[in-house]
Amino acid sequence: MVRLPDLKEAQDIKGGHFEGLPPTYIPMRNGIFYFFAASYAEEVRAAVVAGGHNKDDTRIFRDVSPGFFSALQKAFWSGSRVLEAEETRIVRPLERMTKVQVVRRAAEIGVPLHLTWSCHRDGRHHCWKCTGCLGRIAAFKGAGVDDPLIPQSKRKIT
Ligand SMILES: [Zn+2]
Repeated sequence: MVRLPDLKEAQDIKGGHFEGLPPTYIPMRNGIFYFFAASYAEEVRAAVVAGGHNKDDTRIFRDVSPGFFSALQKAFWSGSRVLEAEETRIVRPLERMTKVQVVRRAAEIGVPLHLTWSCHRDGRHHCWKCTGCLGRIAAFKGAGVDDPLIPQSKRKIT
């Protein structure tokens, strides 16, 4: 586990110059995550580094755009002889699917959804209030899939 306690969300940064981004946006979060992944990929000589971004993310965040990944791929190979020699590629298999489509497909292929995490907050359980949790609720509802993390007694039938 890697802890990054100094990262801040846009809502916690004074100056408010993050127009059009959700309050939970963390500047360059994905770039930071991908370089941690690149470090591990170099260590284990991985063939791929996979990201789980979906179509909904690419509409909002510039650090999941095709231009960002093109530059990032070049940075991986420029910065590491091992990654270049292994031709380690960044793959984003979900980028053409909406969050609803991702949930539907996950249910179809038997992904253990009870092991997934969507909350932006730290803790043992989802808060069910942050944008990550609200997006999860909407995606499961849109997909017509019961979320195994929501107790049966609290599921709303609408
Ligand atoms: Zn949450």
